[in-house]
Amino acid sequence: MNKRIKLLLRIVVIINLVFLTGCTSAKPIPFKSPVNTTTKPITIQVKKVFSLNDVGVFASNQFDGARLNGFEKINDSTVAVIINPENAPINNSPYYAFSTWSNTPKPFYFTFIYPKGFKHRYVSKIKKDGDWSKIDSLNVFKKDSIVTIKLELTEKPQTISGQEIESSTDVKNWYTKLIEGKEEVVKLKSIGKTIQGRKLPMFDICKGDVKGKNIIVLLTRQHPPEVTGYYAFQSFLETILSDSALANEFLSKFHILAFPIMNPDGVDLGNWRHNAGGVDLNRDWSIYNQPEIKHTVKAINKSICKNKAKLVLGIDFHSTWYDVFYTNKDRENTALPLFIDDWFISLEKNITNYKVNEQSANSDQPTSKGWFLNGHNAVGITYEIGDKTNYENIHLFGKVSAEQMMKILTKTIN
Ligand SMILES: [Zn+2]
Repeated sequence: MNKRIKLLLRIVVIINLVFLTGCTSAKPIPFKSPVNTTTKPITIQVKKVFSLNDVGVFASNQFDGARLNGFEKINDSTVAVIINPENAPINNSPYYAFSTWSNTPKPFYFTFIYPKGFKHRYVSKIKKDGDWSKIDSLNVFKKDSIVTIKLELTEKPQTISGQEIESSTDVKNWYTKLIEGKEEVVKLKSIGKTIQGRKLPMFDICKGDVKGKNIIVLLTRQHPPEVTGYYAFQSFLETILSDSALANEFLSKFHILAFPIMNPDGVDLGNWRHNAGGVDLNRDWSIYNQPEIKHTVKAINKSICKNKAKLVLGIDFHSTWYDVFYTNKDRENTALPLFIDDWFISLEKNITNYKVNEQSANSDQPTSKGWFLNGHNAVGITYEIGDKTNYENIHLFGKVSAEQMMKILTKTIN
């Protein structure tokens, strides 16, 4: 080959390499209060059927999303349900889920036992014949901080859980249906794998050419039991993909990257908060030690770089004790300085008797909200739904907040 052509080819390869690595990089973002997110060991629960043969009562954790570490008879009508976290230290979010049944129909009492320092948090949900319901408060007994529930057992197993179970398979079933027939607008991508080898899905959503269009990121389930936040994410995304005139106009102007399950290992392991690496993923948005965050950051950065676009807004759906929006204090230098105020005003206007609860502070620790701001000058919001907020309200909040976001943002671009 001619020397000149060879040289030219080499230059092209180098340029390509620089471009490609630039596009797939995950540059660390500094935070005021770094958190050590290197992988830590977790205890994997032993999957089995627990049998109290002499009283004919049984329990099982042999399903995804289960959490039951021990099942020990206290007396002939009461059992201790022993629940441990995946590792510690960890937040007070003692999640539990198990199925239970008996030889003959009978009432039976279940006392929740957590390690020292942890208190019962989640009101029990019961799944019978495929339907979830909240436990009747008449069947919940509190002594000091110890909670006991009374169940009517039958030969048919019923599932008892801190929150409705939405395993990685349930999530996949939901989105497979959602995106069916919408292939022109939504592309489902796998951006990498978790520690336990589960796929990390991402939706790439846009109408027409994505080049140069401002990017909005939506994510959820960094924390496994936070199912009410996931329900808001569902409604939000369903509204964006509803094929309404507003949604279609919005999608012709913006490019959405949506991550429906950030921590599938944690979800299926029935973890209280962490991933299979024993880490709170929402503290890993600085140097990305965990694969879930590393792959997510790379996918977002790649999209920004490839499309010569800008990330303008990121919304991360969670659950906590009550409905609240955590926002960043810094606004004027972000891509959308007026968005939060406009959005909150419109939410109050469009939801009857609704008052926005906002808590504003820049993130000192490496959370997604802080990463949107510090890494991209984007607006970052943690959208928290209360543990006990009912499904109808969650659905309404998710829907109206998506509609109002689309309305406000569509107006910013002619
Ligand atoms: Zn959370």
